[in-house]
Amino acid sequence: MTQPPDTENKIGLVIAAHPDDPDFGAGGTAALWTTLGWQMHYLVVTNGAKGSADPEMTSERLVPMREEEQRNAATELGVLTCTFLGAEDGELEYSREMLGGIVRTIRRLKPHAIFTHSPEIIHRRVLEPDPEDPLAEFRGFVNHRDHRRTGEMAIDAVYPTARDRLNFPEHLAEGLETHNVAEMFIWGNRDINFEVDVSDVLDTKIRALTRHVSQFGERGEDFIKNVRDRWRSPDGRFYERFERVSMPF
Ligand SMILES: [Zn+2]
Repeated sequence: MTQPPDTENKIGLVIAAHPDDPDFGAGGTAALWTTLGWQMHYLVVTNGAKGSADPEMTSERLVPMREEEQRNAATELGVLTCTFLGAEDGELEYSREMLGGIVRTIRRLKPHAIFTHSPEIIHRRVLEPDPEDPLAEFRGFVNHRDHRRTGEMAIDAVYPTARDRLNFPEHLAEGLETHNVAEMFIWGNRDINFEVDVSDVLDTKIRALTRHVSQFGERGEDFIKNVRDRWRSPDGRFYERFERVSMPF
């Protein structure tokens, strides 16, 4: 399925832990839905300060670099705005401050849908392993702790925090209203019930990812070749997969 929800409120907000996560998780969907009249936005919770293996790199230099890379990637995809909450990369805790930052962004942008990380998965095995890989049946990954924390706070921000006026009442004093997010799209979960065929915008998604030069600069071409092979489904198409949860407000 490719079609976005049938709604008047064509606003989507991708809430992700690190610069480049929103592009990996939902960048294709953002690019595609933008062409269908949606306004897409990004919210990045941490500052990406740990994302370098370069011994010459410092966190002080990396943080502004990664913000700019994220804005460049968003531009490629047609994503309208990027908001950064600036939590320390790798040290994200569930906090009132960060929850409040997510709630404020939801109340400001009033999205129909949010997209975010799975807060449930700590580790899992790869579902479609490479048949030529001798360790295929054992291959897996760990869902970064910052991703889990971000997913949990994003979901809590949707319900009930952004909805209820007595939560963060200072937002109302700032002139913001409460807001009901109608749907959540969670990537990386086990129970996938919504697939977006992003084959037509795959080049755009990859171009956006390569704008994260601090992450893929040295191996940009390998990265492009590898992701095409890695992401191709058995039917030859490319999908972003979510658990879609419609809220009964
Ligand atoms: Zn990440």
